[in-house]
Amino acid sequence: MNIRVLGAHNCESQATKFPSLLIDGVLAIDAGGLSSSLSLQEQKELRAILFTHQHYDHIRDLPAVAMNLFLDGSTVNIYCSQTVCDLLTSHLLNDRLYPKFHEVPEAEPTVKLTVIEPYRVEQIEGYGVLAVPVNHSPDAVGYQVTSPDGQVVFYTGDTGPGLAHCWERVSPQLLVIEVTVPDSYQEFAIGTKHLTPSLLHQELTSFHQLKGYLPRVITVHMNPRLEPQIEAEIAAVAERLKASISLAYEGMELNLQP
Ligand SMILES: [Zn+2]
Ligand SMILES: [Zn+2]
Repeated sequence: MNIRVLGAHNCESQATKFPSLLIDGVLAIDAGGLSSSLSLQEQKELRAILFTHQHYDHIRDLPAVAMNLFLDGSTVNIYCSQTVCDLLTSHLLNDRLYPKFHEVPEAEPTVKLTVIEPYRVEQIEGYGVLAVPVNHSPDAVGYQVTSPDGQVVFYTGDTGPGLAHCWERVSPQLLVIEVTVPDSYQEFAIGTKHLTPSLLHQELTSFHQLKGYLPRVITVHMNPRLEPQIEAEIAAVAERLKASISLAYEGMELNLQP
């Protein structure tokens, strides 16, 4: 399984992009920095996009991808909660901000929206996909994706603390988890449902207690202004837990082997 980190930050600038992961070139999770990271040909090769939640930094490039696919006569399957589905069609693909790509072209719409229920493994383009609720906006989920040859990644999307119920359901080799701010912003993180390095430490401790191992860990959704501080604190957490934890960056590639 090849995982490309297209966007690794919660703020966009010339140097950083909004969250988006690409698995084997065909399955994207979140579309913050999707069209801005992929060639037109790569966008045509997308088969499915999974959305963790509706926040702008996670859905931003959907209209741009849809326009490219529409113009190329191609299509893509979108999987998300009912909440996200309703918001995408009422606020974004609504013929006022941008075309209703889920209705045009009439014969075969560019975008096919499917509601994904949590706690049920769905077969999507040959991958086993399990949505697990996380502690963020209502209906926000993380996704465990299992490749046809059995490689497993879990991506939390945005989340605050309290993930023990997730750990009971997933068994990833690679954990992609958000860490938005450093420890000095803990109150802010808890209030807005995000993680700090210390909160990550607690979540990984509960993972280890429940599962008896720790996967390789990659963090995303960092605030670029605060990244040096986050990086130093993550290094200390990795040291204490004797774990492999690194900060993702735009263009990072990870390969999981059977
Ligand atoms: Zn969010
Ligand atoms: Zn976000």
